[in-house]
Amino acid sequence: MNTPLNKPFIVGRELYNIAQAVTKHKQISGGGRFTYQCQEWLQNTLGSQKALLTHSCSGALEMAAILCNIQPGDEVIMPSYTFVSTANAFVLRGGVPVFIDIKPDTLNLDESLIESAMTEKTKAIVPVHYAGFPCEMDTVMQIATRYNVFVIEDAAQALLSEYNGKKLGTIGHLGTLSFHETKNIISGEGGALLINDAQFIDRAEIIWEKGTDRRKFQRGEVDKYTWIDVGSSYSPSETIAGFLRAQFEHADAIIEKRRSLWNVYFTLLQPLEEKKYISLPAKVHESKNNGHLFYIITASAAERTQLIEHLNQRGIASVFHYIPLHSSPAGCRYGRTAGSMEITNDLSLRVLRLPLYFEMTEHDVKEVVCAVHDFFRKNT
Ligand SMILES: *Cc1c(COP(=O)(O)O)cnc(C)c1O
Repeated sequence: MNTPLNKPFIVGRELYNIAQAVTKHKQISGGGRFTYQCQEWLQNTLGSQKALLTHSCSGALEMAAILCNIQPGDEVIMPSYTFVSTANAFVLRGGVPVFIDIKPDTLNLDESLIESAMTEKTKAIVPVHYAGFPCEMDTVMQIATRYNVFVIEDAAQALLSEYNGKKLGTIGHLGTLSFHETKNIISGEGGALLINDAQFIDRAEIIWEKGTDRRKFQRGEVDKYTWIDVGSSYSPSETIAGFLRAQFEHADAIIEKRRSLWNVYFTLLQPLEEKKYISLPAKVHESKNNGHLFYIITASAAERTQLIEHLNQRGIASVFHYIPLHSSPAGCRYGRTAGSMEITNDLSLRVLRLPLYFEMTEHDVKEVVCAVHDFFRKNT
């Protein structure tokens, strides 16, 4: 057996669209027809006021940090258990990530710890929807309103997941998505900034266009375009956008497939949870999960290492996830913790991700599950 953790895939017109960009639209640089079609799809499907396609979720987070006017010394509250880009985007503006602990049921930031991490320098909160499961956004938004700070949802893993009927990434002032090949819907590298507060729209377009008012010029609103603000090159090329446009056409089928594989894992591994050998993700807001990734929590770090080795011998890839940012060299240099990091420290040593990708079959999942069951049969 050779079961990778993840595998890129094609569902429809991806390659055709790339050819169309070259030969029919005659534009493969950014900001062409496919880019605007993707942005419209995101706006209509998710219900965001404005979507801007970016070259990555990291880029979208950097745009968010500029839009929130993060200045040197400004603090941004986020979980330590996240990808480096969540923190880097703010550090690049001189901001200070303030790391808080996570909750054991979802591995999302513990919303009850946000208020005690607030200081006069706090400018923003960045909830990360781990594995596509939602943070407690009602509480996060209430606190943000009370303290007058911005909320930027890192929804890199959460495309089409929901919280109380709202799509993730559309609840905070800003939201960011990723279309990296390890995510649910892919374009190799790719991302989007979702703007849910109209005050940001004009400036976001300027930042996106290298700090110029080129978009206004294209719409005929100004008669020449010029440098008016900071910015950078954030848009993807039309070849990327064409690929992504094709994936969007099959978004529902892709998510459904992943959700059904996720549910097979969950059901078939439940006996091991009942015997207390492992813990499974809590099915919080279960019906709205997008099936982004499946993880189990082993009883100890040593057992996780043994299980990785056992699966590896059977040709099954499995990996741990984040090294907590507060314990990384750059995290120590640029950020600080607020309160205990007990749950982050403990669970980061015990989380194990199992293979999950679009072309995986139910049979493949069952083989992985069998291998996990065998491990605990041998070890007990
Ligand atoms: C993947 C990911 C990112 C970065 O996405 P890119 O598109 O690769 O820049 C950021 N945050 C989280 C939580 C992610 O999972």
